[in-house]
Amino acid sequence: MAKANHLHCSFCGRSRDEVKILIAGQEGHICENCVEHAQEIIAQELSNRPDGSGQSSNFKLSVRRPAEIKTFLDEYVIGQDEAKKILSVAVYNHYKRVTQKVQADDIEIEKSNIIMVGETGTGKTLLAKTIARLLNVPFAIVDATVFTEAGYVGEDVESMLTRLLQNCNYDVTAAERGIVYVDEIDKIARKGDNPSITRDVSGEGVQQGLLKMLEGTEVLVPPQGGRKHPEQKMIKVDTRNILFICGGAFDGIDKVIARRVNTNAIGFSVNKEEQDFQRNNLLNFVNAQDLKSFGLIPELLGRLPVVTHLDPLDQETLRSILTEPKNSLIKQYTRLFELEGIQLNIDKDVLDFMVSKALEYKLGARGLRSICESILTDAMFELPGTDTKELHITLDYAQQMFGKSKLSVLKVA
Ligand code: ADP
Repeated sequence: MAKANHLHCSFCGRSRDEVKILIAGQEGHICENCVEHAQEIIAQELSNRPDGSGQSSNFKLSVRRPAEIKTFLDEYVIGQDEAKKILSVAVYNHYKRVTQKVQADDIEIEKSNIIMVGETGTGKTLLAKTIARLLNVPFAIVDATVFTEAGYVGEDVESMLTRLLQNCNYDVTAAERGIVYVDEIDKIARKGDNPSITRDVSGEGVQQGLLKMLEGTEVLVPPQGGRKHPEQKMIKVDTRNILFICGGAFDGIDKVIARRVNTNAIGFSVNKEEQDFQRNNLLNFVNAQDLKSFGLIPELLGRLPVVTHLDPLDQETLRSILTEPKNSLIKQYTRLFELEGIQLNIDKDVLDFMVSKALEYKLGARGLRSICESILTDAMFELPGTDTKELHITLDYAQQMFGKSKLSVLKVA
């Protein structure tokens, strides 16, 4: 039917100049818009099949016992024992609840969404990501600061599920048992004690928006995210079995805890050493009440019943992070050089030097990577293609390379 000089999409009828791409078939053409729509329809139809035949085999939930989860976490995350234990139990209970058979006695196990408090770069995202990998469930990381209350400039909270769907190729059944890590939850704390003066659309407004989703509801999710494609067909996602793990640094929460702990008169009966210990480890005592004082609304906290904390990383932990995790930085660089036929040997005092710089420049665990880069980049640039078989990094060499790098001028006061 279509004449060569007057091509059009055989599905929507748009002509060649109205679309960007027109793909030719045997008897007709299809435009990029129709391909996109067809893809969404397929994803939705497959996920709605009662026999589950649409479910991709990529995501077969594998529930593990708490001790097994903790052992797995130990391979990738250094320290943070308490957080690991609490997470392992919460995650185990969550998936036990998801997979339980319906029983007659009406006892409903409630959801155990989790909130983690700890400085940035202490392993919150890493913990959540590692758990999702072990359980083989879809996982998405979202940033709470991009959301605003519905109707305002910014993203709707529903779009966090878009990310989850995208990460599992729109396998809705799998997404409905996935894990969403909401980062920077502390940044949507209420902006002050008097909420009535101005509308707090990126703070309390977002917290309100999160409530239903955290608890469990059917949400219509825009498959492409955002509000830019009003014509897109929404995908229905039930959040009842999605595990939400929230994390935040909650800067200054130690003062809130200190106030509460003092008013509770902890420490009257204990000796001075014990009091000092308590003061230095205030985060150990964090609870929902402190998070409420910080500006999270009680309704939200009610839906995040598991509260845990991560310890700041000390010298010893940073040192272990460099070498111990299964895919530690040093193991990764060793592999990179190995692939070039070069054996990498790094002196022990170089590792200590890296840690001391990470601490001195307040770069935390994230900074270890840039420090390694600053020391090894020259070698990674020059050695490939040469007949070098061994690279020995001494403290002198490391200091010289680090001194040359941009990092060394970044020192924070
Ligand atoms: P955040 O607490 O800000 O979410 P991340 O989990 O993103 O921190 O940590 C940043 C990086 O630092 C991780 O990718 C990992 O390489 C490293 N890291 C941080 N904490 C640990 C830890 N406890 N064990 C191993 N690596 C860690």
